[in-house]
Amino acid sequence: MTERAERLQEMAKALPDSVILRVERLRKFFHPKGADVVRAVDDISFDLHRCETLSLVGESGCGKTTAARAIIRAHVPTSGEVWFRTASGEIVNLAGLTARQLRPLRAEMQMIFQDPYSSLNPRMTVRDIVAEPLRLFGVRDRRELDEKVAHLLEAVGLRGSHMGRYPHAFSGGQRQRIGIARALAPKPRVIIADESVSALDVSVQAQILNLLVDLQEQQELSFIFVAHDLSVVRHISHRVAVMYVGQMVELAPCDELFERPLHPYTAALLAAVPQPDPEHFRAFAPPPGEPPSSRNPPSGCYFHPRCPHAVAACRTERPEWRQLDSGRFVRCHLAEELSLAGVGEAGKPDRVQEQGHDG
Ligand code: SF4
Repeated sequence: MTERAERLQEMAKALPDSVILRVERLRKFFHPKGADVVRAVDDISFDLHRCETLSLVGESGCGKTTAARAIIRAHVPTSGEVWFRTASGEIVNLAGLTARQLRPLRAEMQMIFQDPYSSLNPRMTVRDIVAEPLRLFGVRDRRELDEKVAHLLEAVGLRGSHMGRYPHAFSGGQRQRIGIARALAPKPRVIIADESVSALDVSVQAQILNLLVDLQEQQELSFIFVAHDLSVVRHISHRVAVMYVGQMVELAPCDELFERPLHPYTAALLAAVPQPDPEHFRAFAPPPGEPPSSRNPPSGCYFHPRCPHAVAACRTERPEWRQLDSGRFVRCHLAEELSLAGVGEAGKPDRVQEQGHDG
């Protein structure tokens, strides 16, 4: 048996039933001509569970979108493994598949894009936009296509009668609903939502977030939610992973991460979250300095030049990604010793408050 086949067999036994996707030591480096290597994603590992929303957060340029794209194989990973449990129960390593081997699995992993304006072809009707993935995966009959498109549009809060219109006839929120209908069309099991509400007004964001929560329950979806807005993330995530310069620095259940961060960078991000309750208001306090370039990250802990808790070892020794006794994951030498401030429950509703309408 080849080493690859052995590894596959090993993973088939080791992967708990609750896990739909396991990412192991994933790296994605870019090699621009005549310039230093860009270490966009530099060794990330995590599990995604069935019906879970895991958010990837961090400042712009931290590698969260590249990580999501490498997982779904929109980018070819430089190294690492992405184990996926298919609908038929088979375990495959997406990172090692050819384009041809990936094709039948594409239906099971879909993406919702950031910009509802540029992600929809203005020359196609809503019918054709939503029907496109259905055609790709074998639905040919016109009446069946129309029925499925109408059903999908209704599932995302639009009317079946909208299918003859073009994208320009819709508001931003409605366009994002069309993008969600398109992603749902091939019946995916994992959806990557890449900054999917950040281009929308706050009131419309709430409606789209609530729609995603409802669809997750109805269709047993697992989400990787890429976002930079922590207040949005708090309302939708079961767990949150914080990224910094291509690495994960903390991964925890959502409430635990917000209330008791273990990594100084997480604490610094939380300090910047606006608090709706004036009694819990916290001033905007990003960590001092700029994030370093992923072409030339600092020695030791990548966060040490900005970390108020850095000790000598932080400048020379790179902290490992490790699981603590509490079950939480962190990349910091001092995680057990620091006592960092989080943000409380203030202003956290069960469901995002909706105002107005996107129609
Ligand atoms: Fe700060 Fe050191 Fe922890 Fe890095 S390892 S986050 S520099 S305390």
